[in-house]
Amino acid sequence: MGLKTDYISEKQLEPNPGVLYIVGTPIGNLEDFSPRAKNLLSKVSIIACEDTRHSGQLFKKFEIKATLISFHKHNIHARIPKLLKKLAEGETLALVSDAGLPSVSDPGEELVAASRKVGHKVVCIPGPCAAMTALVSSGLPSQRFCFEGFLPSKPKDRKALLNSISNETRTTIIYESPHRLLKLLKELSLLCGEDRSIQVARELTKKYEEQIGPTIGEAMKYFGENKPKGEFTLVLGGAPKGKITPISDEQLIEEMQKLISSGVSTNHAAKKLGSKTGYSRNYLYSLMH
Ligand code: SAM
Repeated sequence: MGLKTDYISEKQLEPNPGVLYIVGTPIGNLEDFSPRAKNLLSKVSIIACEDTRHSGQLFKKFEIKATLISFHKHNIHARIPKLLKKLAEGETLALVSDAGLPSVSDPGEELVAASRKVGHKVVCIPGPCAAMTALVSSGLPSQRFCFEGFLPSKPKDRKALLNSISNETRTTIIYESPHRLLKLLKELSLLCGEDRSIQVARELTKKYEEQIGPTIGEAMKYFGENKPKGEFTLVLGGAPKGKITPISDEQLIEEMQKLISSGVSTNHAAKKLGSKTGYSRNYLYSLMH
C-alpha cells in the first residue's frame, strides 16, 4: 500500500523564520525522538528550554547546536517579550520542555498564546506525551477523557478536586511523583472505593516500564509491598454513570448524623448512605472521624 496522498515530507521547508515551533522530546526512550524534531532542532537558531542543562545533554547526543535560552515557570513573563522580539526579527525559534510535549504540565501555553496574539504562526512538531501514552495503553475508555496533571497540594483545593474527580464519569489522567503515589491511591480509594478501575503506568517507554492495576485496591497492595520508584501516570476509570450524586462533605456528615441519631451504628449508617449516594462506605465512615 502506498502512502496516503496527504502525507507530506516537509523536512526541506522547515524551519521558517518568525514561526514558533513547539517540539515534543522523548519521555525516556531516545528512539522516540522523531527525525522531524531532530532535523528542525538542528536547524533553528534559538531553542527555548525548560532547563538548558538538561536539554543540552540531549542535544549534545544529536549534535544540535542552537543557542539555548532558559524558559521555565519562574521566568516565563520576563522571557516572553524577549522571545517575541526574536520572532519579530525573523529568527527561527523552537520551544522544548524537559520531556514530552511542552504545555502539558510544562511551560509553553503562555508563549503560544502571546505569539498567536501578535500574529506569529505556531507549529507543533508532535512527540511523546506521558498522559496519552498511559491512556491508550490502559485499556480504559479513551473516547472521552479528562486530564488533571498534578493535583494541588493545598488540602482544601486538593480535597475539592479529588471529590470532583471521584464523581467524574470519564476516564481521568493524573500525574504523580513517586513519594506521593501511595497517599494519592489512598485518597482515591476512600472516595472511589477500592474496586474502581485504575492503571498506574510506571516508567513509560523505558526499560522497566510497567502497568499496575486493574483496581485501586490492587495498586495500593502492590505499591505497599514495592516502594514506588520512577515516574508515574495514573489512569483512573470513570465513576459508574448515574450512580453518584455529587454532595458536599458537610451535607454527607449531616446525613450521617441523622442516621446515627436514629440509632444505627456509624458503620451501618455509612453502608446505608453509601448505597443511596454512591459514595464509598470507607469514605463516609472517615468523614465521621
Ligand atoms: N510534558 C510532559 C508530557 O508531555 O508528558 C509531562 C511533564 S510533567 C512535568 C512530568 C510528569 O509526567 C512526571 O512527574 C510523571 O507524572 C509524568 N511522566 C513523565 N514521563 C513519564 C514516564 N516515562 N512514565 C510515566 N509517567 C511519566
